[in-house]
Amino acid sequence: MAAYVLTRAGAKVILLEAGGPWDSRTDSAMLTWPYDSPRRGAPTRERPFGEFDACIGGWEIAGEPYTVAEGDRFDWWRARMLGGRTNHWGRISLRFGPDDFRPRSLDGLGDDWPIGYAELQPYYDQLDRLVGIFGSVEGLRNHPDGIFLPPPRPRCYELLVKNACDRLGITCIPARISVLTRPHNGRSACHYCGQCYRGCRTNSNFSSPGVLLSPALETGRLTLVTNAMAREVTVNRAGLATGVSYIDKTTGHERHAGARVVVLAASACESARLLLNSKSSRFPDGLANSSGTVGKYLTDTTGTDVAGVIPRLMDQVPHDEEGVGSLHVYMPWWLDNRKLDFPRGYHIEVWGGLRQPAYGILSDVHKYPSGGGYGVQLKRDYRRYYGATVWFAMRGEMIPNPDSYCEIDPSTVDQWGIPVLRFHWKWSEHETRQARHAQETLRAIIDQMGGQPLDPMPGPAQDQGLLAGGRIIHEVGGTRMGKDARTSVLNRHCQAHDVKNLFVVDGGPFVGQADKNPTWTILALAWRTSDYIADQRRTGML
Ligand SMILES: Cc1cc2nc3c(=O)[nH]c(=O)nc-3n(C[C@H](O)[C@H](O)[C@H](O)COP(=O)(O)OP(=O)(O)OC[C@H]3O[C@@H](n4cnc5c(N)ncnc54)[C@H](O)[C@@H]3O)c2cc1C
Ligand code: SF4
Repeated sequence: MAAYVLTRAGAKVILLEAGGPWDSRTDSAMLTWPYDSPRRGAPTRERPFGEFDACIGGWEIAGEPYTVAEGDRFDWWRARMLGGRTNHWGRISLRFGPDDFRPRSLDGLGDDWPIGYAELQPYYDQLDRLVGIFGSVEGLRNHPDGIFLPPPRPRCYELLVKNACDRLGITCIPARISVLTRPHNGRSACHYCGQCYRGCRTNSNFSSPGVLLSPALETGRLTLVTNAMAREVTVNRAGLATGVSYIDKTTGHERHAGARVVVLAASACESARLLLNSKSSRFPDGLANSSGTVGKYLTDTTGTDVAGVIPRLMDQVPHDEEGVGSLHVYMPWWLDNRKLDFPRGYHIEVWGGLRQPAYGILSDVHKYPSGGGYGVQLKRDYRRYYGATVWFAMRGEMIPNPDSYCEIDPSTVDQWGIPVLRFHWKWSEHETRQARHAQETLRAIIDQMGGQPLDPMPGPAQDQGLLAGGRIIHEVGGTRMGKDARTSVLNRHCQAHDVKNLFVVDGGPFVGQADKNPTWTILALAWRTSDYIADQRRTGML
């Protein structure tokens, strides 16, 4: 987004990307049949979500370790390709609501942001118009409506979910997804192949190479340097950033890109790592770290899942119900915390249907009512249960705590000798109580649909089913914004308090989570920050 806005404002931009190039129009595996590959779509190390997945990266990257403090659990998902995780994200594109920017004022927990919803709203609006997003105008409190294209109709299993939610008093509405249901800004409408995670050859969903970097390149002002692993932000004697030193991964040589303004967008934790590794006599604790808060206030979305088998969906007549490669309906937070034993909320995502089968489908068939088996019986079971499972995913708000952060590991380096991150992680009772509530709710929906959950209810020994920190891949914070330079890294413009020509535009500036996925807010904030940089350059302030 920064490259898009700044090149259009007339700036010359050099973009350093640690991974290789990618163009979904030519590189995507869209419409490849599983039987076209001997692996049948099974995961590989660099594509842990399946070999046809667009995103190169994973929980482990060869030569690029990270460490976790003893006794803690944190998993770090990293992309290594142009466009990063936007190549296979779920495209669930939710705005934060007014309450999400002032949580401390409302319940005394976490901190307020230095900006409010009103300041970000124009950027959300222009983002909706530029990218294209479907949804419905609902007027719900703290779930602001956007400028929506028409939503697709619910699929069969989604209609059953909607009916069950209506009976339970749970709000269930059309999802808000950055997939085009109408031609938009020169891009074609979705043809409902259901394979968004593979990258879209018709550019009908949002990924940053297709929607932002292509027009930035067309300005002629963007220089793209791929396979460039940034090591450090360099500074001069006046304490201003002078550019970025990086490893050219194709030769192993160190190079330097000089710049008047440096913008970090390497993902929340990687940007914190870069700053902590940018030590100099003037900044001995790392760059922009006079507050000691780089790496602190790290959060991830809370997550717990329940799958259920629904008898009414068994033995379906095979038919095409693929739709977009994401949700058609979802459940935004609908309850009042004053009546609950935990603060903040969660939303529910729902997955299922008759999607293209691939390697691993129904690998848990032994958990189904007839228990799987061998030969003819097993084949019958596969046909009977194909499309009969519905997965519910709770995705909620974590409150920042002092035990969840990242720092530089004193004794581990990556393959280029760059010190790596060490993570610390603890859930508090706020999150485990929220997870217990979610488990009960998801099971109630399955019950209401006439189905049964595939796994037993988790208990305290399993953190009530909460997945490990990092598992939802929504990590934010680490370079948070704030009014006070003693307790935050960036000011209200995502500009470092300590270094005026240094900015961060990934999830790092977030002051906290919300019960929404973060990427629409990352993009809106990045646009706002980039406008500010352009204004400051025009007026000679930078
Ligand atoms: C499977 C999946 C589903 C998701 N679904 C959703 C969703 O539905 N809704 C939502 O809001 N969010 C979703 N997310 C999260 C979303 O993808 C991230 O919030 C978003 O991509 C973060 O953007 P980013 O630019 O900060 O980081 P990234 O997308 O990770 O991009 C960072 C880029 O920086 C590069 N880089 C890293 N380190 C360096 C370095 N040292 N030097 C040079 N380059 C470097 C990386 O190669 C990468 O290209 C999902 C994520 C995953 C993995
Ligand atoms: S479902 Fe639509 S947006 Fe997604 S990959 Fe297929 S055509 Fe593209």
